[in-house]
Amino acid sequence: MESDLDQWRNEDTTPGQLRRIQDGQIWQTLSGPDGHPFFDNSDDRPNSSELRVGISIGFDGQVFLFSFQRSAFSGSHSTGVLSVSIANLDTHLRYRVENVLLCGLTPGPRELSGDELQKFICEFVTDLLRLYEHGLLVRTPQYPNGRLVRVALVCISCDHPALCRMAGFGDHSMNSCMCTKCELPHDMLFEEAGLTINSRPTRSTQEHLRRAQEYKTLNGKKEREQFFKKHASRWFEFSRLPYFDPVRMAIIDPMHNILLGVVKTQWCDVWIQGKTLRGRTATKKVPRELDEIHEILANFEMPRWVARLPSDVGYPAGGSLTSDEWKAMVLVYCLIVIPLIWEEWGPASDKEYQEQLKKLKPSASTQSSSRSQHGKLNKKSKTSQDQPQPRMHPQDADNFLTLAAALKIILARTIDVSELERAQDLLQAYLLKYREVSETSN
Ligand SMILES: [Zn+2]
Repeated sequence: MESDLDQWRNEDTTPGQLRRIQDGQIWQTLSGPDGHPFFDNSDDRPNSSELRVGISIGFDGQVFLFSFQRSAFSGSHSTGVLSVSIANLDTHLRYRVENVLLCGLTPGPRELSGDELQKFICEFVTDLLRLYEHGLLVRTPQYPNGRLVRVALVCISCDHPALCRMAGFGDHSMNSCMCTKCELPHDMLFEEAGLTINSRPTRSTQEHLRRAQEYKTLNGKKEREQFFKKHASRWFEFSRLPYFDPVRMAIIDPMHNILLGVVKTQWCDVWIQGKTLRGRTATKKVPRELDEIHEILANFEMPRWVARLPSDVGYPAGGSLTSDEWKAMVLVYCLIVIPLIWEEWGPASDKEYQEQLKKLKPSASTQSSSRSQHGKLNKKSKTSQDQPQPRMHPQDADNFLTLAAALKIILARTIDVSELERAQDLLQAYLLKYREVSETSN
């Protein structure tokens, strides 16, 4: 293990390529307690015998049901899992069960509030502070008389609600600002400006830390609630770490953000629940879009390392997908399947749409499209009184390919920095087109 922890020092960073966490700016610039870079890898670095460890922290809630069936009578217990992974280790070692450290379980039975969570992690952060400032002398195989080990937190990586509670930010329920990176009010999220990357000012780290301190000085519960509501900042224990930048180092992991977020929304909320991709008819069991997708999927021959999709994906019996399956869906299967489905079923959908338009009496335009009722990004159109919309929007398949092209760059094992601008442009184009496609004629 000791040599594995220092293995990163022997691997070169290729300029312009991001392959591992050590290639990133945080790792390369994080300051040590002596003012030198914490992860200095030069031959003449001071304290070269020290073992420097970078960790990332995850926190996720788990709900346990005390019965095999959900019912009003079955109790449930929610607990949060605080875990640490060691960023020094190469990715093939980092997430092995024996190398992931379980550091705490919240007691439940419900999720802790943002303030309660701080009490839970207070001692943990004190340990982190000691491990950074003073380190710990440990006898190791290479240093039988003791080696000083220092630890620094390089990122907190969770889903959005957990991240906000861990790093003192306001979450989706906070209208004043719901983003940990920029000053985005919730009611702007579905507007063009809200979906435009970099359109809002970046959140200031100094301001957030100052407000966290100020929140701590407030006494009354009501006073604190009002302060939090106004500034979307509150006290968080990690602010005691002198090197920790909550805006840059608290991140929503790509699994939650992209795979279980954007990709799942497009497939489940828009296409499945929006009836763009329909299952067989109820009475005569005539196969439709989903069944054809299954037929195509059954003929795929894939290497063993590509995740297989359930044979009835999209039907309730297909169950929910793992993030690995979502990744395979967006980067492999759907690239072929979706254009084929749109090509074959699009004309019938268009015909259906034209007939609906003909039937529509101007005074009776109260029918809202099934499509507009789904999708997290098009909240606004929920209340609109719309004209019918095509069940399969002609531009949806192309827009999906735009998303897939962006994710091919962002989710690659090695990211080419020169391609990031293109990835951002593609993602931006996808978001704005998604909004346009989802928008009804209001
Ligand atoms: Zn933002």
